Amino acid sequence: MIEIVLASTNPHKVEEINAIANKFGVNFVQVKEGFNPFENGTTFEENSIIKAKEASKLMQTYALADDTGLCVDALDGRPGIYSARYAKTQEEKIQKLLNELNDIPTSKRTARFVCTIVLTDKDGNVVHKTIGICEGSIAPSPYGNGGFGYDPLFLVDGLNKTMAEMSAEEKNTLSHRAKALIPMIEWIKSNLG
Ligand code: IMP
Repeated sequence: MIEIVLASTNPHKVEEINAIANKFGVNFVQVKEGFNPFENGTTFEENSIIKAKEASKLMQTYALADDTGLCVDALDGRPGIYSARYAKTQEEKIQKLLNELNDIPTSKRTARFVCTIVLTDKDGNVVHKTIGICEGSIAPSPYGNGGFGYDPLFLVDGLNKTMAEMSAEEKNTLSHRAKALIPMIEWIKSNLG
């Protein structure tokens, strides 16, 4: 198994990423305490580079970071890179999004999850990057108990359910994160295996 540091302190994310990566013989380990990147980038890619570089420098090895957000067309792409900071708690984020979209009809509630993934070497140089996008729309109210974050509001295109109504396995076949992660893992296997 190839081990790579994951530049995240979110145990849900480590679990979700390993559920995909372990099948390919790659295991991600959570970055140690003291990881506190200043995410002042203006794009998902810039923020993932900031996080990966900080983790690589802290751990003196390869590190992988993702930066993810929900981009809503009717809100000109917001919350986007501010998805984590959109409101204090996840419940408040969901309520704020529903309030902002209150007058927006179903057909205009289109949105997408965007995930960028960056791998840096021990010196913090970017060695590879990928992007994954999952298209969908914002539900009129939250549905489902699975997943995390904005999942209960995100209706995946072509399926009549939110990401929170899917099993972890199903989410991992179609999510933005899987679409970015699988090509990244294939690259890691070919180049660092
Ligand atoms: P981060 O880049 O993983 O910190 O994510 C930024 C924000 O998007 C946080 O509020 C997360 O809860 C949310 N988020 C990230 N990934 C997902 C996902 O797969 N589903 C739902 N929300 C997500």
